[in-house]
Amino acid sequence: RCTDFDMAYFQSYSHVGIHEEMIKDRIRTETYRAAITQYQSSIAGKVVVDVGCGTGILSIFCALAGAKRVYAVDASEIAIQANEVVKANNLSDKVIVLHGRVEDVEIEEEVDVIISEWMGYMLLYESMLGSVVVARDRWLKPGGLILPSHASLYMAPITHTERYSESIDFWRNVYGIDMSAMLPLAKQCAFEEPSVETITGENVLTWPIVVKHVDCYTITTQELESVTARYKFTSMMRAPLHGFAFWFDVEFSGPAILPTNSHTQSLRSSITASDTNSLGSSQSKKRVKSDEVLILSTAPEEPPTHWQQTLLYFYDPIEVNQDQVIEGSVTLSQSKENARFLNIHLEYASAGRSFVKESVMR
Ligand code: SAH
Repeated sequence: RCTDFDMAYFQSYSHVGIHEEMIKDRIRTETYRAAITQYQSSIAGKVVVDVGCGTGILSIFCALAGAKRVYAVDASEIAIQANEVVKANNLSDKVIVLHGRVEDVEIEEEVDVIISEWMGYMLLYESMLGSVVVARDRWLKPGGLILPSHASLYMAPITHTERYSESIDFWRNVYGIDMSAMLPLAKQCAFEEPSVETITGENVLTWPIVVKHVDCYTITTQELESVTARYKFTSMMRAPLHGFAFWFDVEFSGPAILPTNSHTQSLRSSITASDTNSLGSSQSKKRVKSDEVLILSTAPEEPPTHWQQTLLYFYDPIEVNQDQVIEGSVTLSQSKENARFLNIHLEYASAGRSFVKESVMR
């Protein structure tokens, strides 16, 4: 059912600014366009649904790649503009804009391809992936294509002294006045909730772990309600630990090939087990990897995107030594009050010290 929270969520997508920001993110938009080109032979002459079409850009890319029909679905009022854009580009015979939720609109045929740009901050914020799953289960033909096909959420410990100084240490001496009495409030306001900001590879203290690996062909909405990962990091240097960073990547691959006969068996020489080496990934479905698997990455060492990284800071830095083990767990769950919000439960233990931090991304 469509809640008031959903209404507010779709309302937020009726403003031009959010679409401008996404479209101007060239890494994002160009990677989607490259994926459509890479899979052109699976799109040409086929039926596509664009889950959350926004201004219609991905639907139009698909139509230009030769799709027979594209259902461009969006529950936000932005669908009105999408329809105007489609008309102005003489694509009304191919792109059908449906103003409504994918959960509610009717499409009278099965589709060959689902495309969607559903990723939120720290991948799961906004909880839009569930709507892609609904679209998949309602309309996708067996063996159909989902773009993107896989996603991974990563986590790593970070050091960020400049950020801590500018928000916190600043109060120690303000125009010569000791304003340290502000420190508790400053820490709370700066670090209670996760913050979206850009860091670099230099802020990251170790290799990341995979918090969640998502196979869009098989994931269920239930699995997305709550995600828990245990972590264990060994710091590569002595440094003040300020918290953890989260980022994600998505991959554009074909459907998993299930080896059922000799033909698929013979294909297996070109099949590589994906992600068997990534921690926290339980499902390591074998699939055909083409030479070039397109990846849209929001990692700190990659060029920045509008997603940046999501930082979960401690209230105070913790000095860690080289080779010190930091362990615990993180749970990301949809908030009970508003499923679009993300509750973050972090457990931390290292060198005889442990604590729990609860926060909400709203
Ligand atoms: N595809 C566009 C917009 C992506 S933003 C682009 O790439 O630029 C995500 C869009 O999905 C928003 O416009 C939002 O209104 C829409 N959306 C989210 N959940 C939806 C749902 N369940 N049904 C229909 N539209 C949805």
